[in-house]
Formats: sequence, C-alpha cells, structure tokens
Amino acid sequence: METQQEKEILRGGQFIVKETKCEDVFTPEDFNEEQKMMRDSVKEFNDREIIPHKDRFEAKDYALTEEVMRKAGDMGFLSVSVPEAYGGMGMSFVSTMIVCEYISSGTGSFSTAFGAHTGIGTMPITLYGTEEQKQKYVPKLASGEWFGAYALTEPGAGSDANSGKTTATLSEDGKSYKINGQKMWISNAGFCNLFIVFARIENDKNITGFIVEQDPSNGITLGEEENKLGIHASSTRQVFFSDTVVPVENMLAGRGEGFKIAMNALNIGRIKLAAACLDSQRRITTTAVEYANERKQFNTRISDFGAIKMKLAEMATSTYAGESASYRAAKNIEDRIAMRQAAGNSHQEAELKGVEEYAIECSILKVAVSEDLQNCADEGIQIFGGMGFSKDTPMEAAWRDARIARIYEGTNEINRMLSVGMLVKKAMKGHVDLLGPAQAVADELLGIPSFETPDYSELFAEEKEMIAKLKKVFLMVAGAAVQKFGPELEGHQQLLLAASDILIEIYMAESTILRAEKNAKRFGEKEQEIQIAMAKLYLYNAVSIVEKNGKESIISFAEGDEQRMLLMGLRRYVKYTNYPDIVDLRNTIAEKVKADNMYNL
Ligand SMILES: Cc1cc2nc3c(=O)[nH]c(=O)nc-3n(C[C@H](O)[C@H](O)[C@H](O)COP(=O)(O)OP(=O)(O)OC[C@H]3O[C@@H](n4cnc5c(N)ncnc54)[C@H](O)[C@@H]3O)c2cc1C
Repeated sequence: METQQEKEILRGGQFIVKETKCEDVFTPEDFNEEQKMMRDSVKEFNDREIIPHKDRFEAKDYALTEEVMRKAGDMGFLSVSVPEAYGGMGMSFVSTMIVCEYISSGTGSFSTAFGAHTGIGTMPITLYGTEEQKQKYVPKLASGEWFGAYALTEPGAGSDANSGKTTATLSEDGKSYKINGQKMWISNAGFCNLFIVFARIENDKNITGFIVEQDPSNGITLGEEENKLGIHASSTRQVFFSDTVVPVENMLAGRGEGFKIAMNALNIGRIKLAAACLDSQRRITTTAVEYANERKQFNTRISDFGAIKMKLAEMATSTYAGESASYRAAKNIEDRIAMRQAAGNSHQEAELKGVEEYAIECSILKVAVSEDLQNCADEGIQIFGGMGFSKDTPMEAAWRDARIARIYEGTNEINRMLSVGMLVKKAMKGHVDLLGPAQAVADELLGIPSFETPDYSELFAEEKEMIAKLKKVFLMVAGAAVQKFGPELEGHQQLLLAASDILIEIYMAESTILRAEKNAKRFGEKEQEIQIAMAKLYLYNAVSIVEKNGKESIISFAEGDEQRMLLMGLRRYVKYTNYPDIVDLRNTIAEKVKADNMYNL
C-alpha cells in the first residue's frame, strides 16, 4: 500500500505526462555545505592522486589503480553509500553521486575500478544481503581492506544476462554449492577479494547470486588482462570457476533471485555512471578551450573562429544538461528513499524500491550522458587538430576511455529499449497514466488548432510550451504504436529506439530548462544569461532530434490518412512561434567559456 505522501511525489517516468515546477527540481546549485565540502575533498584527491599519474594509468599500471583505490578507502570515499551500521558514512544518494562524479574524471581506469567496487561489487550485499553477510563483508569493502567485483557476463551471455551457463550444484550434505563456469570482462578481477557471482541452480528459469571469496586454492583461476581500447589500467579479466565451493549461507537473497539482483544493481550503476561521465565532460571542455585560446592559425586564436565556438558551446551545453538531469533524478531517488523509510521500510527495502522506481530515468541518463561525453571527447580531439590524435595530449586517452561507457552497465541499445519498455509496463500496471493523455492528444489532432499567439513574455514561456508539445509527440507516437502492435511492439526495435530518443531528449531538455529557470528566479536572469542560452540551445537541438525520430516512426507504422494526420500533428508540435537565433546563442555561450578559459557554469 502506498502512503498518501508517496502519491504526491512524481513517480518514475511520470515526467512524460506531468509538468514539473522549477522549484521542485534539485540542481547542483542546491548542494548543501556538507556536500560542497565532500565535493572539494574528492576533487582535491583526484587532482593529487590521479590526474598527475595519467601516464602511468595509460601504461597499464594496474598496481597503481589498486594503490589509489586503497588511498580512496583511507579517505572514506569507498564507504559513502554504505550504511553506518556496516562501517560506512551512510550519506544521502545525492552525496554518493557527487563522490562518484568528482572522483571519476582523472582516468576511466580508476573510474571503472571505483564504480565496479562501490557499486556492483558492494551494493548487491548491502541491498540484498542477510544481516550476517552484511556484518561479515560490508565493513571490509567499505574501508577498502577488501575489494569487490561483479561476475555476471559470460562469453555466451552478455546483454542476455539471464542466459548464463555457470552452474551452482548443491552438495549432498546440503551445506555448500559447487560453482562451475566461465565469466568474462570482469572489472577488478585482478585484485579483488570477493566476487558477486551469478550461477544457475539445476534448470531454474532465473540465475542465483552468490558471494564468492577470491581464493585460488578453491578452483578460481584468472585469464590474462584483456588488451583493451581504453581504460588501460582497469583490471579486466576472465574468471574461471572449477568446483569452487561456496557455503549455502553465501547465497544472496533467495534461489532464482539473481536476475533481479543483477538488474537492480545495474539501475544504480547506470545513474552513477552518468555522474562518473560528468566531471570528465567538464575537464575535456576546459582542456579544449585552454588549447583553443592558445593555438593560433591565420594569425587568429582558433577559439575566435565560429567553427570552434560552435563546438565549445555545444560541449558546454551538453555538460550543463547532463548535470541538470542527473541531479534532478538523484534527488527524486533520495526523496523516494526517505519517504519509504518514513513509511516504515528498512533502509535496504527503501533504497531498492527508491532506485527501482526511477529505473527509466537511470537508463535515460546512462545513454544521454555517455553519448554526450563521447561527443565531447570527439570534438575535443577535433579542436586539438593533429595534436588531438597524439598520445601525448590528454584528448586521445579521454576519447578512448569514454567509449566503454556506451557498452557496459547494459549497452545503450538495451537501455534505450528498456526505457520505453519499462514506461509501457508502468502504464499497464496503472503507475503512470499514459492512456488518458495519449487519448487527449489523439482527440486534439482531430480538432482545429488554435491560432492565438500566447503571451511569451515570461522567461521560458515558449520553451515550456515546446516541452509540452514534445511530450505530445511522444504520446502520439508511442500511443499509436502500442495500439498498432500491442505486445508485439517489443519486436519493433527501430521504433522503440526512436521513441526512446524522443523520451531522452524530453527529459534532458526539460531538466535543463527547469534548472536554468530555478536559478534565474533566485539569482536573477542577467546573472544566468549563459545558462538560459544553454537551456534554449539544448531544447532547439532536442526538437530536431524529436522531429527526425517522430517522422521516421510515423512513416514506419502508419499509412494514408493516418500517416498524413500524424505527420501534420508532428509538424504542429515541433514548430516554434519564435525561432531562437541559434548562432547567436552559441556565440554567447562560447564567449563565456573562452573568457573563463574553462567550463565554469
Ligand atoms: C571493459 C569492460 C568491463 C566490463 N566489466 C564487467 C563487469 O565488471 N562485470 C560483468 O559482469 N560484465 C562486465 N562487462 C561486460 C559488459 O557488461 C558487456 O560487455 C555488455 O553487457 C554487452 O554484452 P556483450 O559484450 O556480450 O555484447 P552483446 O550482448 O553480444 O551485444 C553486442 C551488440 O548487440 C546488441 N544487442 C544485444 N542484444 C540485443 C537485443 N536484444 N536487441 C538489440 N540489440 C542487441 C548490443 O547492444 C551490442 O551492440 C564489461 C565489459 C567491458 C568491455
């Protein structure tokens, strides 16, 4: 049963049918003193222990990764999300995002090691472990005395994670399981002390999770370090289990519960991965503008060329958008956890349900921010020209390191399809009312459009109207597609991908506008001029993406009069009354980034 209070908070995915007031979103400008202190301390750690050693990380110095992980443990950074009862700091969800963000930008190698340990290597125990399991393992993981790894993927089971062939066989005396199988791409495998291993018992439909201590004398062997494109000093190995004995009390949750554990651990991993990309985007933008302000061609600083200004503006804008959406969702999760705890749930249950509720937003953020980081790094190389292609400049490694974020924690294709799939499921369960609003849009399409020009004098009046119209595009496309294909929609992947891109752009654009609006109200419009420009630029780009994907979708499933009507609706919903001067917006943003010689927004 839900409490009354719960019903009043926007549920995950509800943003697509409801308007959010800017006062109701959390932004990085809302960090409290404790969070700011934490951020500064993590930044300082990153500047001291990670950034100066980039060359060693690139040279595959795995020992350095382990050494810095231990130092992070000494500083308490590995324990931020662990409850105090198990030796952690028990900090809020937003605070854990901050740590994850600011510790991750030095190198993807450390970022991956940190994420694999604190997220998927530790969380399955804090969230699903028994009291004994938590007492036994979590304090060691929180302090950095032990390191964790997460062994789900197998050579034949990647995206299809529940299809793994690793087996767990109960001993005759019923006291232990023997694990046999091969795991692949396991981050931290080379130096971890325990694995969260997923294996199948008999012919169970779903896999089961186990806590397996690393002990080579217990049938555990490792493959060689993988020879990877990026994240060179992140230990990634195959792990072979041969009659590895695991006591029955090391089973996580119940038999057959492993797939659920794996998916929920990944939900948290996804939003944290978005956070991990953010400070990298910031640093890449800063490094790019520093170079562009120095480098001269044709007797001109290259940062004075419109072509370079355009890149700097887009890089800064996507960074700002990523920050806006990540912290909006993180605070929603935090509030939901608090609400559940207030309603009597244990911390464990509350956190699980809180994150699960926003699984759609977690997938959206994973996709959007990992792709923005990749684009940022790519444009960073372009701004450096030939020097960008050299291993002696930071862009080359940043570009390679960024690439993995689109693959792990569920590939971006899988996350795109999940985001829409989960939303449709929520609608079917009655958690988000898509049907009513979709019907209202269908009715509106049959009516005569209003030709009145609304009053756009207030800040973002037209932009907010545009967001409402983009939501109608989603409802129009998704509603018609669900009606047409019903449960078969799952098989129409290109349609799902297009719908997902529409969903993603709406969430990102709306979050960006709400942050700029909230800050303009409290700090003044003049002071927030650049942020306002970024919100407008982001929205403009989002509208083009929505238009392209909407058009492709409609043409793919509708014909004749229906197609004409839907395309007409699409044109109506992506049309500005007053088009923003995008070149001017980009120039304004770029001049600020150039003047600051850094991303400072
Ligand atoms: C450096 C690195 C570190 C990693 N760390 C870990 C770790 O610590 N623990 C762990 O368990 N795993 C880890 N992984 C594994 C990672 O999670 C998987 O690589 C990822 O889930 C994709 O699985 P796959 O490689 O088998 O690709 P596949 O699943 O074979 O996918 C190949 C392509 O097909 C697409 N595809 C697959 N299924 C579908 C579908 N149904 N519909 C449409 N498209 C589809 C994918 O999107 C992708 O583009 C790591 C991987 C790497 C490279």
